[in-house]
Amino acid sequence: MTKTHAIAAPSPGAPLERTTIDRRELRGDDVRIDIAFAGICHSDLHQAKEDWGSAIFPMVPGHEIAGVVSAVGDGVTKYQVGDRVGVGCMVDSCGECEYCEAGTEQFCVKGNVQTYNGVGFDGENTYGGYSQQVVVKDAFVCKIPEGIGLDVAAPLLCAGITTYSPLHHWGAGPGKKVAVVGLGGLGHLAVKIAAAMGAEVTVLSQSLKKQEDGLRLGAKHYYATSDENTFKELRATFDVILNTVSAKLPIDSYLSMLRVGGAMVNVGAPGEPLAYNAFSLIGGNKVLAGSSIGGIAETQEMLAFCAEHKIGAEIEVIPADKVNEAYDRVENSDVRYRFVIDTATIGQ
Ligand code: NAP
Ligand code: ZN
Repeated sequence: MTKTHAIAAPSPGAPLERTTIDRRELRGDDVRIDIAFAGICHSDLHQAKEDWGSAIFPMVPGHEIAGVVSAVGDGVTKYQVGDRVGVGCMVDSCGECEYCEAGTEQFCVKGNVQTYNGVGFDGENTYGGYSQQVVVKDAFVCKIPEGIGLDVAAPLLCAGITTYSPLHHWGAGPGKKVAVVGLGGLGHLAVKIAAAMGAEVTVLSQSLKKQEDGLRLGAKHYYATSDENTFKELRATFDVILNTVSAKLPIDSYLSMLRVGGAMVNVGAPGEPLAYNAFSLIGGNKVLAGSSIGGIAETQEMLAFCAEHKIGAEIEVIPADKVNEAYDRVENSDVRYRFVIDTATIGQ
């Protein structure tokens, strides 16, 4: 075991604090990563507060990890010391079921092993990226292409793939009108990625406060959902609505903005149930869908796409002692547009 500095939530909803954790000795297929940056995803808040049900404590959140390989196991051929790499939401899966074979490890029938708040197939709890080192099976490590800084790349490992995957799947591209609901961590990357795919992008935000940013990031239009006229004006407009909101929304109002056959895809994951009227779908053959992160191969594809299109996250880099403040700001939609922890500050 190797000790590493980390930031942990000791119990549900408690402020995060500095601690040390153990990382396992390298197995044959393991990669040790010196973490440089870890993004703060709203999923970290949901889990640290047990919005999604009971969780494992102490919890070291963090599934947007970017760093440099510092050691590899005997059997690792894909990575070498010094490689720039990232880890997202999963660190293992069975590798044998139909979903793993199809490259969609997130749907592993045995259950994928989450990067934190999970239990490995060895029975050990997993601890995430708010730490200085992590040991991960090589198959769950991605290469970060040259040309993207590790700090702006970290959020791509969750927010990037979670938006790239449904945009790709639902055909965002030239001639398609895509709305992104919520301009936060996921939302701002969704705008950049959908615009790079060639779609005509509209941001639907609670207010017009971030309008200038939304347009700079690649949106053509920007509306406030606090204004009832927005829903009237945009009736039957969109091919795809990507909902990145971390809270409950009036789904019927959003479905009314879809064209016939259009799809509203939820990636936002509030703890409370979302309700809709059956006729909101029936009256237009509309689709209400969900999307869960993305597989490892697709994550690598997304990183290549982002490198090609010069897409990184818009970030605010923070030291370890600002994490609780950052959590409050994320909770209050006061983030532009991803907090990233400089993990070098954790041990100081
Ligand atoms: P975030 O940075 O906090 O962004 C969420 C945005 O939603 C906010 O910036 C805000 O945008 C909007 N919003 C927040 N509260 C709202 C409310 N009450 N009503 C309307 N809009 C509201 O969060 P994130 O990190 O992007 O994550 C977003 C959600 O996706 C979370 O629930 C997270 O758990 C989930 N998630 C899911 C997956 C998956 O695989 N499906 C993966 C990662 C994350 P405006 O200020 O522009 O309105
Ligand atoms: Zn996440």
